[in-house]
Amino acid sequence: MTVEKMEFKTEVKQLLDLMIHSLYSHKEVFLRELVSNASDAIDRAKYESLTNQDIAENDGAWRIKIITDEAAGTLTVSDNGIGMTKDEAIQALGTIARSGTKEFLQALQQKEIKDNPELIGQFGVGFYSSFMVADKVTVISRKAGQNGNGGVKWESTGDGSFTVEDVDKAGKGTDVILHLNRDERKYLKEWEIKDIIRRYSDFIEHPIVMDVEREKRSEIDKTQRVRIKEEETLNSMKAIWLRDKGDIPEEEYNEFYKHIAHDFTNPAKVIHYKAEGTSEFAALLYIPGKAPFNILYKDYKMGPALYVRRVQIMDHCEELLPPYLRFVKGVVDSSDLPLNVSREILQNNRQIDLIKTNLTKKVLDTLADMKRDENDKYLEFYKEFGRVIKEGIHYDFARGEAIADLLLFPSTRTGESKLRTLQEYVEGMKDDQQEIYYAGGTSVTEILKSPYMEAFSEKDYEVLVMVDDIDDFIFSGFEYKGKKMKSILKGDIHLDKKADADQEKVKKEFDRLIELIKDHLKDHIKDVRFSGRLTGSACCLVADEHDMDPQMEKLLKTMGQDVPAAKRILEINPNHPLFAAMNTVFEKDKNNPILKEFIQVLYDQALLLEGSKPKDPGAFTRIVTTLMVENLEKNLSA
Ligand code: ADP
Ligand code: MG
Repeated sequence: MTVEKMEFKTEVKQLLDLMIHSLYSHKEVFLRELVSNASDAIDRAKYESLTNQDIAENDGAWRIKIITDEAAGTLTVSDNGIGMTKDEAIQALGTIARSGTKEFLQALQQKEIKDNPELIGQFGVGFYSSFMVADKVTVISRKAGQNGNGGVKWESTGDGSFTVEDVDKAGKGTDVILHLNRDERKYLKEWEIKDIIRRYSDFIEHPIVMDVEREKRSEIDKTQRVRIKEEETLNSMKAIWLRDKGDIPEEEYNEFYKHIAHDFTNPAKVIHYKAEGTSEFAALLYIPGKAPFNILYKDYKMGPALYVRRVQIMDHCEELLPPYLRFVKGVVDSSDLPLNVSREILQNNRQIDLIKTNLTKKVLDTLADMKRDENDKYLEFYKEFGRVIKEGIHYDFARGEAIADLLLFPSTRTGESKLRTLQEYVEGMKDDQQEIYYAGGTSVTEILKSPYMEAFSEKDYEVLVMVDDIDDFIFSGFEYKGKKMKSILKGDIHLDKKADADQEKVKKEFDRLIELIKDHLKDHIKDVRFSGRLTGSACCLVADEHDMDPQMEKLLKTMGQDVPAAKRILEINPNHPLFAAMNTVFEKDKNNPILKEFIQVLYDQALLLEGSKPKDPGAFTRIVTTLMVENLEKNLSA
């Protein structure tokens, strides 16, 4: 049998280095992590054994055993779960970057953690936390459900490399053996282990057992006392979600959350209830405090774990909640479903639908309460998950208004620092105002200063500011309390009847100049028309009512979609002195080259205003500079 030596992945090396040299507090969490891994391994074996008898190998007495050896100085966490093949061990324990590793390294670099090392205790640092207390770690594992005793031995001293070799192992599952540092031998003490298990792992569903020595009266000679070893279960194993709310301290709720969510921060909110009636189930749901880095990615696994009468069926059941609530974590335990439910059954199941409706309402109600009663907390939540919640406006038509009531926006009334609800917006609408106006873009500051706002400010109509990539997609066409939402960047705007009438009168005067502009820019724009939204500025570009706004176009492009660039409409403000002047020049000599040059500059300025770049920035700046020089010379000679 050969021993192979391998290098850890770079990130893992960094992580190990930190574990060994920088973490001094709450080292006891290593045990929580090992027990959690053992429990996950048993969950998997137990679940797979429902459909494949071989997995259980006639040993369905699932348990996690802690074994201490004072003489050798070792602490072993042993499970009879799914186990690992050699390849799996190499990957899982050495070469695959764990999802949390990057975040953990980043968090460690933050000053807050450096100054308060006790915060480390909150982190889920996984298998590698063993190296906080051990100078060597040996893992012996054998995959469940295979023929023979062929297993793998993995070993490392945490110095950048590890070894693997083939070994025999009788039972399925995994033994993690920690060779404890001299200074950490306290973790061999019975009371220390019991204390840690009770604190961090009491809710683990499988028995965590340990042989403990007891002094007893001898059976043979009743006058003598003898020491005997007995196996004792250290955890209460109570499914926390089936217990009464009043009996569960916050700490315990939080520990359970960290265990199932693989998160190291506390949740923002706990939702715990039992439903009775047409559908019987218990739900323990959590709203996380921080968004996981992959919440917007395809590979994000959504949905609470599904249990049927305390047996875990799957760890993420996406049929239980709509995607716009995918940040919710937790457990749902149903009394009505059969144990052998499959994915296919779940997709069209009345019970599941009932649960989903119930959970969705509960989560939305909880968020509404949070918004009303704990506004600061809600703002934190909204920063993390507002973007996800919004998707519901589009995908959950029936609950559109309830979801809309959870949303917050900066607006022309609140400025940048405060946020507005749609309800507040509607209450503050002017008597003659018909629609809810919004403007999309990338920067709140920029949008608030945008000339597109001019006519709206003049009328004192509030405009909501939207900076999420999906906003226009979500809100175009949405109606809140009977009021249509309308982007001020798109379509024709008519706010003022009198201004419209005035424009009508001057139309004839500018007819031929407008034709020239249209002709000169025909490759770039759809149309030229008088603007109902500008009062001070000369011109701007707008998308046609049903075209995409520039934000949306950019979003689709970054998603790799081939979007045909929709031509925009150039709106001009006939009240701006520039057009009167241009018109005079035009009347005198319609071929004056300055006209074409200025039309180009106008168009480039309009591009800048919508957040795009002039087609030829060089030419644009050249013309502007020339104009500056001419103006300065005029100033000097005057
Ligand atoms: P996580 O538990 O978040 O995946 P860990 O660092 O705790 O990260 O564990 C890394 C991986 O090692 C696990 O995902 C699993 O694949 C494997 N592993 C660890 N312990 C065990 C075990 N007792 N049985 C089977 N696989 C294990
Ligand atoms: Mg783990």
